[in-house]
Amino acid sequence: MAVDLDAALMEILACPCPAHAALRSGTAADPDADALTCTACGRSFPIIDGIPVMLLHEALPGTGPDADSGGGSGQGCG
Ligand SMILES: [Zn+2]
Repeated sequence: MAVDLDAALMEILACPCPAHAALRSGTAADPDADALTCTACGRSFPIIDGIPVMLLHEALPGTGPDADSGGGSGQGCG
């Protein structure tokens, strides 16, 4: 079933990737999936009990330009 998050919530949500890009509902493979996909890096974040889990280590890897930039920054992740 499709994600039905509040429009205002979608406005303030942003991907934790360096681009902090907007998100769209579903995934590239399944637009009706309970997930949010970053419009920049393509990572998909699962929605658990109606709450988007905006954690990079919980996200499905994306295919965008930032997709392979994980690690190497020296920042601990989680
Ligand atoms: Zn992103």
